[in-house]
Amino acid sequence: MIQNNSPKLLKDSFNRVARKLRISVTDKCNMKCIYCMPNGNVKWFDNKEILNFQEIVRITSIFAQLGITKVRITGGEPLLRPSLENLIRDLTKIQNIKTISMTTNGILLEDKINQLKSAGLNALNISLDTFREERFRTLNGISNLNKVLNGIQKASELGFKIKINTVIIRDWNDDEIINFVKFARDTKLSIRFIEFMPLDGSGIWNYNLVVTKQEIIKKIKSDFHNVISFDEHNNSSSFQSDPATVYNFDDGKGKIGFISSITEPFCSNCDRVRLTSDGRFLTCLFEKEGYDLKKMIRNAKTDQEIMDYILSSHTKKPEGIVELIRINGLRPTLNLMHTIGG
Ligand code: SAM
Ligand code: SF4
Repeated sequence: MIQNNSPKLLKDSFNRVARKLRISVTDKCNMKCIYCMPNGNVKWFDNKEILNFQEIVRITSIFAQLGITKVRITGGEPLLRPSLENLIRDLTKIQNIKTISMTTNGILLEDKINQLKSAGLNALNISLDTFREERFRTLNGISNLNKVLNGIQKASELGFKIKINTVIIRDWNDDEIINFVKFARDTKLSIRFIEFMPLDGSGIWNYNLVVTKQEIIKKIKSDFHNVISFDEHNNSSSFQSDPATVYNFDDGKGKIGFISSITEPFCSNCDRVRLTSDGRFLTCLFEKEGYDLKKMIRNAKTDQEIMDYILSSHTKKPEGIVELIRINGLRPTLNLMHTIGG
């Protein structure tokens, strides 16, 4: 542990301070979502390229000394990583880390939820893009929608804080928006509609496939005609840094959020950084190579040296997707979501 009497924060040249770390524990996945995975056979990282738990915990402790307080475990599919509960347990012991959450596709959730709970996991984001088994197969590349739904059910019974992540893609699942709203209202789970980003491995992304927040709101308003109206002033997203803008319904039943990275990017409030499963520090989703922390660890660098490297790298954090939009630089496959961890 570094003696740190005057803590340094991860502040970039746009004056943003990082508070959240997303840790991808694997690039492997048991799904093949059309908006994420490359086509054909995917070449996964070799096991020896992947950080072991001890390395992840050491790097996270250094980030914690730099002001990171929240950790999200992601992937690929994080639940494919064997004994993940041991990592979660160790992360909960790091001073300054207040919450540990996970983003998962939910396929293995039912089987692992009890271990996750006892290890100290606080919250779950579960991805769900359709309620139709056949569509699930074409959109997510696997059968067994029921496993995901059972996972959601079991996680809510165990009292987990749950958000559902839903990527809406034109002509693929935009006809289910209202069903998702009904689901949010019936289950009281928060649904977050995510605009399709050019982080697709298959190269299908284009603007026409993006169903925008405004389109979705219009659709919901017209469907619930006069019964439900949105109240933007009731926006319960109390943290400026939350990428989702959250809307309540007039009758107080249910909540929906929007992550509108294409039409309303939140880059100016971004407070997150990422650690890839092969040990690269990414300051932005759209950063390709990042900064190799694994090499430092495996070359016996000290915590202080790693901390200094993280601090100096972070000052170079790019402005983000907002800049790409400004220069008309969006195109398919700008980065590979399954290797970064969304
Ligand atoms: N496998 C886990 C899952 O699907 O929840 C965690 C990793 S996944 C990369 C994290 C989140 O990124 C998911 O909610 C997924 O829907 C979202 N995502 C993946 N590709 C995306 C894209 N091109 N645009 C927007 N969101 C995307
Ligand atoms: Fe796998 Fe998640 Fe990507 Fe779907 S979004 S392919 S579940 S990593």
